[in-house]
Amino acid sequence: MKQYGKPSTALILQKTSFFEENELHIKKQRQISEIYIKQPKRKTCKNCNKPLSDVNDFEKDGIGYKICDTCTHLNGAYEDTDKYCSLIYGNDEKVYAANYKVDDVEAFNYRVSSIYHPKAEFLYTSLLSHNVNPNHLSYLDFGSGTGYFVSALKKIGIKNVTGTEVSESQVRLGNKMIGEELLFKHELIDTLNVISETKTDVISMIGVLEHLQESRSVLKCISENTNIKYLMISVPLFSLSVYLEILSPNIFHRHLHGGHTHLYTEQSINYLCNEFKMEKVSEWWFGADMVDLYRSIYVKLEGIEASDKLKKNFGEMMKDIIDPIQLELDKKNRSSEVHLLFKKRTS
Ligand SMILES: [Zn+2]
Repeated sequence: MKQYGKPSTALILQKTSFFEENELHIKKQRQISEIYIKQPKRKTCKNCNKPLSDVNDFEKDGIGYKICDTCTHLNGAYEDTDKYCSLIYGNDEKVYAANYKVDDVEAFNYRVSSIYHPKAEFLYTSLLSHNVNPNHLSYLDFGSGTGYFVSALKKIGIKNVTGTEVSESQVRLGNKMIGEELLFKHELIDTLNVISETKTDVISMIGVLEHLQESRSVLKCISENTNIKYLMISVPLFSLSVYLEILSPNIFHRHLHGGHTHLYTEQSINYLCNEFKMEKVSEWWFGADMVDLYRSIYVKLEGIEASDKLKKNFGEMMKDIIDPIQLELDKKNRSSEVHLLFKKRTS
């Protein structure tokens, strides 16, 4: 099963701070970059573990990046060390508050239905199309955050679902929002144990794999745990957005920055599939490349001397073509993001 595209309205509405507070985000981005470049050099590819070239393919925000010669994965030149990760993710209350303003159940539910319900439905229909009854399976959402995806699965009728998350504050808030104790806290050090010991049929990692320090070890544990039959992931990709970021140093880099120190490609994902013996059940390609392009021009226009008429005209010119143009990128598998459902090969 393959599906393409997704309306961008929710994205534009919910990320308005990226449009209106570019300077603030740039400042934070540079503080993080300065920490990243002080980490030891990454010697092997984050995806295939083969040696990386000594030469950078490009540099942005002072950080070098390398395209892996073996699997085409895009690697930042430095390691995501414990120190780096604890600085990026450690103070979760702050990170959390900066990105989302979920201070009430209404906002939580809106995010669940606008962003996470389509993901839950994708998983559900993918399993159906694979002749499996999704209601007969058990689910673990790994890195569940505040439990948006767990809540969405619950709402479409999945009964046997839990989530696990390292941030205690997110677990607490999520359980409060869901109204049930479905989220559990695990310690970062227990990441591999959680995966190795789970008895669930389906494990999901929505926007999580790329943030894991030991992403290859996690995949190995999944491949060795015979209880797990399916893996759903959503990962960021090396796409047009990266080129926009290279050429726009003063526009906030939403895509390749901070927690994203490396990006997948269709080829690097295929490499993983092969190595860890998984096959693709379904794919959903959609991206935010055109929203990034729109934002890049929007923010630059705000900074020049021009009439409000001109700026308003730009919005009018773009508003109904962002999604159709993005859809063309999506249909060619060139979007900034992909959702995939894998089935583990049994032999
Ligand atoms: Zn590689």
